[in-house]
Amino acid sequence: MSKVGKRVLVAGAGVSGRSAAEALLERGAAVTVTDASEQRLAELSELRARGAELVPSLTEPPAETDLVVTSPGWRPDSPLLTAAAAAGTEVIGEIELAWRIDRASARPARWLAVTGTNGKTTTVGMLESVLRAAGMDAVACGNVGLPAVDAVRAGHRVLAVELSSFQLHWSSTLSPATGVILNLADDHLDWHGSLHAYGAAKGKVYRGNSVSVHNADNAASTELAAEHSEGRPIAITLGDPAAGQLGVRDGELLDRAFDRNGHDPGGNAAPVSLAGVSDVRQVGEHNLANALAACALARSCGVPEEACAGGLREFSPGEHRSDVVTEAEGVVYVDDSKATNPHAASAALGAHRDVVWIAGGLLKGAEVDELVRQHAPRIRAAVLIGSDQRPIAEALRRYAPEVPVVGISAQRVAAMSEAVRLARGYAAPGTAVVLAPAAASMDMYTDYAHRGREFAAAVRAVLAEPASGS
Ligand code: ADP
Repeated sequence: MSKVGKRVLVAGAGVSGRSAAEALLERGAAVTVTDASEQRLAELSELRARGAELVPSLTEPPAETDLVVTSPGWRPDSPLLTAAAAAGTEVIGEIELAWRIDRASARPARWLAVTGTNGKTTTVGMLESVLRAAGMDAVACGNVGLPAVDAVRAGHRVLAVELSSFQLHWSSTLSPATGVILNLADDHLDWHGSLHAYGAAKGKVYRGNSVSVHNADNAASTELAAEHSEGRPIAITLGDPAAGQLGVRDGELLDRAFDRNGHDPGGNAAPVSLAGVSDVRQVGEHNLANALAACALARSCGVPEEACAGGLREFSPGEHRSDVVTEAEGVVYVDDSKATNPHAASAALGAHRDVVWIAGGLLKGAEVDELVRQHAPRIRAAVLIGSDQRPIAEALRRYAPEVPVVGISAQRVAAMSEAVRLARGYAAPGTAVVLAPAAASMDMYTDYAHRGREFAAAVRAVLAEPASGS
């Protein structure tokens, strides 16, 4: 028990907070759970019977607290965490708790960790699929639904762990066998304070690695690996792979980094074909990069080449990531509500030639100029929703002055229907109407999935209306 603390405060009664509290109770800790929302806390009321105390809105840890396990989204400068730091109480996240529990167990799992600004969920999903195709007892966990604590408690042998920068920030001894930073772009800068601090949090994925993977096509990933990686350096690229890389040549994903046992094949070894490009069923070059990263992680633990093709073919992606809602009147309607930052929106827009772009929401301090400049030629019209419309509108005025731009007040109940109706009016056969907000959704919706569902519902409702002017 000494490894995880005797008196523990769990800050945040969400999904990972519940799992943390349960795991701590199982290990005999005295557990208090706090949350600003009494309703959330009430959802954990059955933990009371197991000895937990549930206390709303604590602003300092109870006396003699040894450890605070915080929900990843809590800011380090929130009153409770500031008070914990002032009292010298250790603060960790649920991932770090899972790591400590796992390390203290008789049969620790193998951790394969994925971080980056975009592509994490897709990559761990592909990785899980490839590992399972190789017959391994693997599970995707972390920032993807299944808390890492639960994956550890279930005793899975290989963990494909998605890690957000927040989760890494709150991890102090985590040392995955293999880690990858897929890419890095402006996001969550309001939380971390600077791009440097955001990158430093991501860099923790490389601590104690045997193998450290980076994306040679992404300058920030390459720089972070040079600064932080501790394992054998391996790179992915969409180009022809050099020795020590996985890449693409003549329609095939090739491996020049690993032999069958996950070891170095030596500089002159012939490249191993892992899969055809067509085995990656998700559109866009960014998904090839995600597939290469998944294969690199899988190969680092000795997955044979044939499992890569099979696993990639079987993988089906999460919703709201370049999801085609429908095609009507020659116009395709695409839900990429998961594009919660400009870098992701860039991947979504880049997949189409002629776009009516629905964007806006909470920009979280991100810059949109480069996104708009890069994609200006393909934007036919833009419909803006949510709070931070102005930076997008200004960038459009600067780089695409001819493009019509309409803004819809976030206060409007039917804002999404209005946006889709306007978008339909601007579209012509061959156009894609793309929801790729480049922004978070919480100003108008519960989360990106809610925003995506509203978009899909609005598309169906609007298409049932007669087209304006007909
Ligand atoms: P994450 O878990 O990091 O948010 P997802 O796999 O859920 O990543 O994808 C999030 C968004 O980023 C989607 O809009 C998707 O189209 C886009 N995306 C996915 N992979 C990449 C990548 N490698 N580079 C840039 N954008 C990507």
